[in-house]
Amino acid sequence: MALIVQKFGGTSVADIGRIKNAAAKVKKELDLGNRVAVVVSAMAGVTNQLVKFVEELSPLTTDEAWREYDQVVSSGEQVTSGLLALALHEMGIPAWSFAGGQVPLKTDIVHGKARIHSIDAQAIHKALDNGMVAVVAGFQGITPDGRMATLGRGGSDTSAVALAAALHADRCDIYTDVDGVYTTDPRIVPGARKLDKIAYEEMLEMASLGAKVLQTRSVEMAMNHGVVVQVLSSFADAPGTLLVKEEESMEQQKITGIAYSRDEARVTLTGVPDKPGVAAGIFGPLAEANINVDMIVQNIDEIGRVTDMTFTVGKADLDRAIAALEKARPVLQYKDLTADKNVAKISVVGVGMRSHAGVALDMFKTLAEKGINILVISTSEIKISVLIAEEYTELAVRALHQAFGLEKA
Ligand code: ASP
Ligand code: MG
Repeated sequence: MALIVQKFGGTSVADIGRIKNAAAKVKKELDLGNRVAVVVSAMAGVTNQLVKFVEELSPLTTDEAWREYDQVVSSGEQVTSGLLALALHEMGIPAWSFAGGQVPLKTDIVHGKARIHSIDAQAIHKALDNGMVAVVAGFQGITPDGRMATLGRGGSDTSAVALAAALHADRCDIYTDVDGVYTTDPRIVPGARKLDKIAYEEMLEMASLGAKVLQTRSVEMAMNHGVVVQVLSSFADAPGTLLVKEEESMEQQKITGIAYSRDEARVTLTGVPDKPGVAAGIFGPLAEANINVDMIVQNIDEIGRVTDMTFTVGKADLDRAIAALEKARPVLQYKDLTADKNVAKISVVGVGMRSHAGVALDMFKTLAEKGINILVISTSEIKISVLIAEEYTELAVRALHQAFGLEKA
């Protein structure tokens, strides 16, 4: 008998019919002899609507406002937890709903994007021991001072993985509207293949690169706690993609997937004095403004006096980044600042890179054959990313997908 955590995303509980469908998925697991704890999202669109209500009233500039934001925005999940428990009752299955605070799932006090401190799994264990299904409202927890907290958008994935870790569950099934993790975005490459398995590290790279199947934090948590996660569709009856340890992924491919992101912008500072402390001087003001920098290249100047520095920031942060750098100009003494929003980051990802040489060469050759210019390159042990002009995004993704042999057999 296994203990399974099932998580249903917003589209999987979007109306009463789909809530009944989710209940049927729970029943199927029970019929196999397993015990089930469920984590639910709000019905599709509900969280956005609640956020809009809040924003119509408040600019959300104070801690007090964020506290009430959490009170309002967390309500969507509470509704679905009760509705799913009711749907189970109607099928003759005993079930109890739990709000985050009733578990309790304890968080810090950072309203709007709280982190989980701990989960006391006793009450859930007791419910399961009594033959109940526990239906937990995702995305929410309770602060040390007893207030509602939410975990950041998409946070019910993290609730589910955290609960699976706390319960020592055998598997955490994340039901969503796609049937798994693909080698790349099937909307761009119709021949993209569903992966049976993907290593946590690869999924982390894919998730943070824009393949938004799971909240990135949930993948980190699964990796740290060794939770076996399956991503699968609630509208099909087929296995999805398993997130597993690297040793178990064994796809034996050089490359597992191609990811892309249109969320970044390029910033270049030219004529920067080439001396110690300059990089710190540039990135200090950005860090102070809470702006994340991703790819970075610095040129070396032959004469050794001035250099160029190019890096990327989130598109949404670009205006603030420019403002911070212009403010710091008298200190930084750069010559020019240019920026470009029409860029895309394309990445090839795969743990196979650790043992196969030449991936970078294959990638650069493929792009060159298509006449695509590379603006910036960055690498990690299992990923190579390039920044290119945004208009070539699809072309680059398709060419790389083919070049690395990722098409369906
Ligand atoms: N309902 C929340 C959101 O839309 C949490 C989630 O669905 O994961 O962000
Ligand atoms: Mg989600």
